[in-house]
Amino acid sequence: MVEIKTPEQIAKMREAGLVVAAIHAATKEAAVPGATTKDLDDVARKVLAEHGAKSNFLGYGGFPATICTSVNDVVVHGIPDTDTVLRDGDIISIDAGAIVDGWHADAAFTAFVGGGHSQELHELSRVTEESMWAGIAAVKNGNRLVDISKAIEGYIRRQPRPASGRYGIIEDYGGHGIGSEMHMDPHLLNYVSRKRGKGPRLVPGFCIAIEPMVSLGTPRTHVLEDDWTVKTDDYTWSSHWEHSVALTEQGPLVLTAVDGGRAKLAQYGITAAPDPLA
Ligand code: MG
Repeated sequence: MVEIKTPEQIAKMREAGLVVAAIHAATKEAAVPGATTKDLDDVARKVLAEHGAKSNFLGYGGFPATICTSVNDVVVHGIPDTDTVLRDGDIISIDAGAIVDGWHADAAFTAFVGGGHSQELHELSRVTEESMWAGIAAVKNGNRLVDISKAIEGYIRRQPRPASGRYGIIEDYGGHGIGSEMHMDPHLLNYVSRKRGKGPRLVPGFCIAIEPMVSLGTPRTHVLEDDWTVKTDDYTWSSHWEHSVALTEQGPLVLTAVDGGRAKLAQYGITAAPDPLA
């Protein structure tokens, strides 16, 4: 069953989304050479406290931290610790969430630590982020869930291939419904699977976290002994971008983007819904 939200509930999710956006801004600034991933977690916890918001990551299935910090060949679910020191040339995907009055938001981005990154890494992050926006642009009244998957995969496959050969669209993880819980139905694949149907029809009140994960090699992953950290099987580096999106009567609202997605959606000829908090 897909949870359909009222405009009031979407406004609460927007509040949570703006807390997540604030966590993104603060952790991005803190992701510098010499910082530990635990430092970033401390930053995130402080932002949550300042906004009176709760963490949906801390304690989720026993997860021990407030954000996921996934460095280089870690795809997702990296655990912040004091041993992982960021170095010049690293890339880090930071995944964060927040709860306001019981309503959830969830978003991730890939940051470049210091400088000296290859063009291939910049392209990897750009392609991953842009595929997320292509997916967001498919959140339209009357579309089906599969149209989001199709838009994400289609964008990635239309890009020039990386020198490593082919982008790997991670298959073991995907997007998800979000609202009164962080992870809800439906599960959103980042590619089209013939084994799956078209999925539910998108209607106002439908909310989804869209989160492509792309590697410079294999789409396959494994989980380390800590039961959380996910790495690519071939240890190629990967990128992860995510936004939580609500479909409203007035169109899509990107809950975790400061501008509600207005600027990026305009590039797709789509007018973002008005911000319920504005
Ligand atoms: Mg998510």
